Formats: sequence, C-alpha cells, structure tokens
Amino acid sequence: MRVAFLGLGIMGRSMAANLVKAGNDVTVWNRTTNKSVDGAKVASSPKEAAANAEVVWICVSDTAAVEQVLFGKDGAFESVRSGMTVADSSTILPEASERFAVRVRERGADFVDAPVTGSKIAAEGGTLIFMTGGKDETIQKLDPLFKAMGKTVLRIGDNGKGLAAKLAMNLMIALIYEGFAEALTLATKLGVDQQALFSLIQSSMVRSGVVDYKMPFVEKRDFSPNFPLRLMHKDIRLMLEAAQESGVALPGLETVKKIYDQAHADGRDDLDYAATLLNVEELSKGK
Ligand code: NAP
Repeated sequence: MRVAFLGLGIMGRSMAANLVKAGNDVTVWNRTTNKSVDGAKVASSPKEAAANAEVVWICVSDTAAVEQVLFGKDGAFESVRSGMTVADSSTILPEASERFAVRVRERGADFVDAPVTGSKIAAEGGTLIFMTGGKDETIQKLDPLFKAMGKTVLRIGDNGKGLAAKLAMNLMIALIYEGFAEALTLATKLGVDQQALFSLIQSSMVRSGVVDYKMPFVEKRDFSPNFPLRLMHKDIRLMLEAAQESGVALPGLETVKKIYDQAHADGRDDLDYAATLLNVEELSKGK
C-alpha cells in the first residue's frame, strides 16, 4: 500500500520501518527534519507526504499535534481525497478524535483511531497491540498494515472507542507501576533484598506485564525513555479530563498525578515514567 507516515518519534520511527520491511511504499514526514527511515521517501510537509497516499498514518505526541499535522498549514487534510483512510495511533482525547473523524468523512475518506500498547520494544519488534475505533470494513482494509506493525488488532467500537479503551489501559499501567514503585521502596527500607522481591513478584499472583517490562530497567536504574514520563503525564491529564466530562471519580489516579506533577517539576519529563520511582524514594527520605 502507499502509506504516508507522520511522526517519527520513539514509536513512529519503528512502526514506519516495519511498514517498509513488509513491502509497503512509505513516505515519511517528521516535524524536525533530522529523522528518517531506511527505504522510505521523505516529504517536506504532511500535505506532500499524503499527496499520493492511500493511507495516512499518524503517530505524534498529543491532541494539538494531531490537529496540527492533519488540519494545520500544509496539513495532510489538504491532500485527503475520497477513498483514502487516515489512521491515528497517537494517544489523544477520544472526543477530539471523534471530531477529526467527522471532518475527514466529510471529504469522502475514512478515519480510524488506532492507539497502541506495547511501548518501544513492541514497536521495534512489530508486536504492538492495536485497539481500534471506526468502521469494521475500514479496519479490515488496514489489516496488512496492522499485521506489519503489530500482533493483535482489536476493534473496540465506533470512532473514539479505541482511545477510550487506551486511556483505561494506561490508567491501569500508571497505577500498577505506582504500586510496584511503592512496594519496592517499602520492602527495600525494611531490609528486603531487591532480587528476592523481584523473584517473589514474578512467581506470584501480583506478576504483571508492566512489571515484567520495567523490572530489568529498574534493576539497572536505567531510566532512559521507552515511554517518556511527559507522555504518561499527558495521558493522566486526558484520563482525568475524560473522567470529569463523564462524571467518573478517579481518586487513586488523582493521587498518582501528584507524583507526576512533582517529577515534572524536578525536570524528569524526558526520562521514562519508571523514573517516578525516584520521586517515591525522595518522598521517603528523612522519614
Ligand atoms: P515521542 O518519541 O515523544 O515522539 C513524538 C512525535 O510527535 C515526534 O515525531 C514529534 O516531532 C511529534 N510532534 C510533537 N508535537 C508535534 C507538533 N505540534 N506537530 C508535529 N509533530 C509533533 O513520542 P512516542 O513515544 O513516539 O509517542 C507517540 C504517541 O504514541 C503519543 O501519543 C504516545 O502517548 C503514544 N504511545 C507511546 C508509547 C511509548 O511507549 N512510547 C506507547 C503507546 C502509545 P519532533 O521529532 O519534531 O519532536
């Protein structure tokens, strides 16, 4: 397929590379021009990237960034034609995504929200899990592209529902990691050997994929970004916004947000969100 891929960050670069590897004709665009993907053409604007594409795939930071690459000056929308599909793997507000879908549909094209889970390692390995919102037939049409980048595609419902599920998923990830960080901090303070605690966690009912992923990094105190803290912080704000709009109370997440606010104030935005462990440790100091 002829694909325009917009956004070559931690996730997008590997996703686009996997589309190339699978034999697709890929044109990439990134805001800062120092990023590229072997085997892909490079465009100078989203509009140019989308000019000959059948599918436009977006993976940028947040709602404002999606709006910019799609509807901003020289945005992809200027090249959107009847029959095209726009798929968005960015984690953004579901309600905004629904609005974007309406605008794209008015052009006779279609729109799918296709956020992902699996982080950097799954993006590199082509084993992402996509949770999608949109028309069934459009999602099926994208199947070869999903297969090139991921191992599982779940249709959650209509437009915006993939993102609603993604926010719920990341809510659990934030809380599970916070539980791990607090358990590790308490156990260490009580004199428990870290390796012994890790073995116990791995072999018991509290084992989780989040801990499986993060434990090797925590062991090495390697907080280089797989999922940057600033993006989890952004997702927490999206969850709380969606919760407020729908009248849902999230008291646990409100508390966890304070840790992320502090990590942000401490200049940890570009570290992995696993670095919130440092804030839990710092809160414990001197007590
Ligand atoms: P990243 O490494 O920070 O990359 C962000 C990308 O967005 C870059 O290409 C950046 O361009 C672009 N961008 C930001 N603001 C823009 C704007 N106003 N206009 C145009 N482009 C803009 O982020 P990532 O980790 O790849 O994440 C991308 C999306 O996937 C986010 O929504 C994130 O929440 C979601 N996600 C991430 C993970 C993960 O583990 N990393 C997992 C699941 C979902 P520049 O290079 O010019 O800055």
